[in-house]
Amino acid sequence: MQTIQLKDKEFRLYISNLEIEKKIAEIALKINSDYHQKELTLVIVLNGAFRFAAQLIRSLTIPIQITFLRVSSYRGIQSAGKVENNFDVDLPLGGKDVLIVEDIIDSGLTLQHISAGIKKQQPASLKVATLLYKPAALKYDVTINYVGFEIPNDFVVGFGLDYDQQGRGLNDIFVLNEKLSE
Ligand code: 5GP
Ligand code: MG
Repeated sequence: MQTIQLKDKEFRLYISNLEIEKKIAEIALKINSDYHQKELTLVIVLNGAFRFAAQLIRSLTIPIQITFLRVSSYRGIQSAGKVENNFDVDLPLGGKDVLIVEDIIDSGLTLQHISAGIKKQQPASLKVATLLYKPAALKYDVTINYVGFEIPNDFVVGFGLDYDQQGRGLNDIFVLNEKLSE
């Protein structure tokens, strides 16, 4: 079993880079067909989703625009329960077909917050793509249109996701080698 150490915690290999890239290519195919002959505006949620977005864009054949949104709700391995961000997207989203690109949906709080902010700008359509989704952790009423992997309620790092700013550069996804206490 491949394990790594980040600060005080041990993580074990969970999803390989090969599986991740294969899955993202499948999502891109679906998006290409769903938005056929349309232009798609990606709102990429920083920091975690940068890598998922970059990989997704490699396989998108439809015309795209991109913008970024910085959001943060985690401290260490637990959700802080509130979202910090400003809606400083540098593109007008009104009338556009918008896709939110997230790294992971946990409680859904961040997504609900971002969706509400974007809806105020009255996009033509709004959908959500996330690399990872924890159905058991969901507390808010959100719709997710494209999901890479559904995972249990465990803490993961790698492929853009961090533990206290470490691990974002890992090519594979690793999971915490202990159970999270509720
Ligand atoms: P939510 O608002 O849905 O509770 O949390 C979403 C955000 O929390 C994600 O965008 C991500 O930044 C962070 N997050 C949630 N679960 C994990 C996890 O297992 N690992 C890491 N590194 N971040 C997580
Ligand atoms: Mg995120």
